[in-house]
Amino acid sequence: MSYHGVICGVVEERFTYKLPVAKGCPYNKCAFCDFYKHMTYREIPLEDIEAELARVSNAGGKPERIMLGDGNPLWLPFDRLKKIVEMIEHYLPSCTTLCSDASVLAIESKTDDELAWLARHGYRMAYVGIESGLDDVLEFMDKDHLNDQAREQIARLHKAGIDFGAHIITGAAGNGRGIENARATAALINELRPVHICDFSLYVASVTELGLKEEDGEFVRASMLENMREMREFVSLLDEDLDLFFEGYFSAFLRKPEGKGVGPGSKVIVNTAGEFVRKSLLLKGDLRTERENILAGLDGYIKSTEEFESGLEPATEQGVA
Ligand code: SF4
Repeated sequence: MSYHGVICGVVEERFTYKLPVAKGCPYNKCAFCDFYKHMTYREIPLEDIEAELARVSNAGGKPERIMLGDGNPLWLPFDRLKKIVEMIEHYLPSCTTLCSDASVLAIESKTDDELAWLARHGYRMAYVGIESGLDDVLEFMDKDHLNDQAREQIARLHKAGIDFGAHIITGAAGNGRGIENARATAALINELRPVHICDFSLYVASVTELGLKEEDGEFVRASMLENMREMREFVSLLDEDLDLFFEGYFSAFLRKPEGKGVGPGSKVIVNTAGEFVRKSLLLKGDLRTERENILAGLDGYIKSTEEFESGLEPATEQGVA
């Protein structure tokens, strides 16, 4: 298949066979999202999808799990999705589980019977952009749903027998609102009961609407430290009995290990507190067994970043002679 899209798979799906069924995102307006800004949304022709399935089948491929792409495959009209699922069943009968990204509106666009049909035919997991438990943040970010809609649609997914994974964004509420966002989002997640959380610290790309809002002073991003404190608060507030896998992405300053290099692409930053390296990091694990390790990891990275910041020289005023 000739395909130049992007399927955003969480770590848990890194070995899952990805099958593009559409290119880009049909909504493409979330203020923070730069995944599909450069693409025009289009459905991939059924004959191309069939040729790809036949190619994998002829090559002896026997995937047990398939992730449909790109940004929102559940948005496809049900009849088209049904044809695609039937083609998968025909060419790759080894497949027992289908999953994809999905928006709240895409769930809303399907009837209960349609969701139940998809579940019976293996569609068992939707990764949904929940983003924040604060409605004003969803509105500011131009999301296509508010939290009551998410409550309603996730309940319909569960009723049909489909699990869901929540994408959320640390730092989405901006500077000074990290703890508020953590508390509201944890309360929402405790209600919605996902089996997976992918928690990204906000990245502001200049090509996005959020980048423009930041340039105009309408949005001030949270610091690295505030993001880590928000993620820590969020994880600590998740219900003890939640059975989910957590992935949390963030950046921190780490002390450079004595006598060691720092790896390709990393720079040593020296200040009065010593030598540090800025790293993009991931903490992950089953929440029931790894919660304390994840919190301890965050505590360590918060401490080293605080140390880095304590060594920054305060700005000094220059006297003019
Ligand atoms: S966050 Fe999801 S729904 Fe929003 S523009 Fe990006 S891919 Fe589309």
